[in-house]
Amino acid sequence: MSVTSATSPSSTAAVTAVSYWAQHAWLPHPNGPVVERDVLIATGPGGLITSVTPDSGPCPPGAVRLDGLLLPGQANAHSHAFHRALRGHVQVGSGTFWTWRDTMYRFAGALDPDSYLDLATAVYAEMALAGITAVGEFHYLHHAPGGARYTDPNAMGEVLIEAAARAGIRITLLDTCYLSAGFGAEPTKPQQRFSDGDAQAWAERADALKPREHARIGAAIHSVRAVPAEQLGTVAHWAAMRRAPLHVHLSEQTAENDACLAAHGVTPTRLLADHGALGPRTSVVHATHLTDEDVKLLTDSSTTVCMCPTTERDLADGIGPARRLASAGCPITLGSDSHAVVDPFEEARALELDERLRTRTRGHWTANALLRAGTEDGHASLGWPEAGRIEAGALADFTVIALDSVRTAGPPPRLGAEIAVFAASAADVRHVVVGGRHVVRDGAHQLVADVPGALRSAIGALDY
Ligand SMILES: [Zn+2]
Repeated sequence: MSVTSATSPSSTAAVTAVSYWAQHAWLPHPNGPVVERDVLIATGPGGLITSVTPDSGPCPPGAVRLDGLLLPGQANAHSHAFHRALRGHVQVGSGTFWTWRDTMYRFAGALDPDSYLDLATAVYAEMALAGITAVGEFHYLHHAPGGARYTDPNAMGEVLIEAAARAGIRITLLDTCYLSAGFGAEPTKPQQRFSDGDAQAWAERADALKPREHARIGAAIHSVRAVPAEQLGTVAHWAAMRRAPLHVHLSEQTAENDACLAAHGVTPTRLLADHGALGPRTSVVHATHLTDEDVKLLTDSSTTVCMCPTTERDLADGIGPARRLASAGCPITLGSDSHAVVDPFEEARALELDERLRTRTRGHWTANALLRAGTEDGHASLGWPEAGRIEAGALADFTVIALDSVRTAGPPPRLGAEIAVFAASAADVRHVVVGGRHVVRDGAHQLVADVPGALRSAIGALDY
């Protein structure tokens, strides 16, 4: 990699080798991750880690001291940035996923490229403050209201890539094919912004998106509701040809399963399998309501499953079979999806705590396994396999949490993984480093001076 842009997250590191010294760090070990102390991490060209030295003694002169527990940067594997504007508004009254969606469409209708740049920059800055160093943006808000094309048909996707650069994080833009309101149904009025007409036109538009140092391009099928079965293969083929990630919402609601069975006589998972859309580069999002055969199809194809527990509980979706899928071999990742909250530690512990409520027993996931879902497996699912581990050759993306806050003080640091997952919150994030660049320092974003103010102004400007 080389220096390509003043705004890319790795640009500083590419010209300046920085060493960081962590009081404690969660590091890979042949017997499973362990917390080491006095860890010196050297970074070099390309924003990569060049060496990791535990028990290195006191912080040497010239190294940047990071007190607390250093973790790999957190990957938010499923985001719709504009949903952040719904926060609070959708907690009034009652309803279902489908009534929530009506509110969401009102906000979607209020955005244009300028307002989306402001909003997404603020949202990604909030993510950085929460310890997130890479986001998978499941992007379907492509066109102007009514479906008119912008001068650049990728104007909305481009502002998301730019927003990530301004917020100092990595992005995988999962450009989403969204063509129909349901099986055999034309897009409704709010959905006309989402549709390219057919999957071939989607592919031609997506072809024009180019990766950057901080940005990679992937594909998404919104859902089996939104892409006609005979066009699923076009999207899957596009992703396969580029060895790019392919994400798809799957069986979040039983209504989707019922409609798919009525239209095609098979479950959504089977329909995806039959059209070549499952596999090791595919992530299915939610996977809440699965049959035994669905579970087998996902595991046999080594498909990744992205759980979004804070959104799934917010939308009253149900509890997906994450533990069963993981035990059968599916990698599990985590996403904040609708951004009811943005807190990767809350997502991680929710996976275990939901399972406890369902089974009335404890200890389905180790803290190490939950951290892996949010780091190594999350990054791999977004097409960043070189991120998510603290080791030489990996990208120098770190999240450091305080071990001296009211939430985290007390336990010995050797229990750092347990503290991070079961007690810490986004408010405990002290430092974030992306590609060797110090993006959050002592809890303050270094690129966006007033993140709450940026959120307030971007959301306040929307006429929804
Ligand atoms: Zn989603």
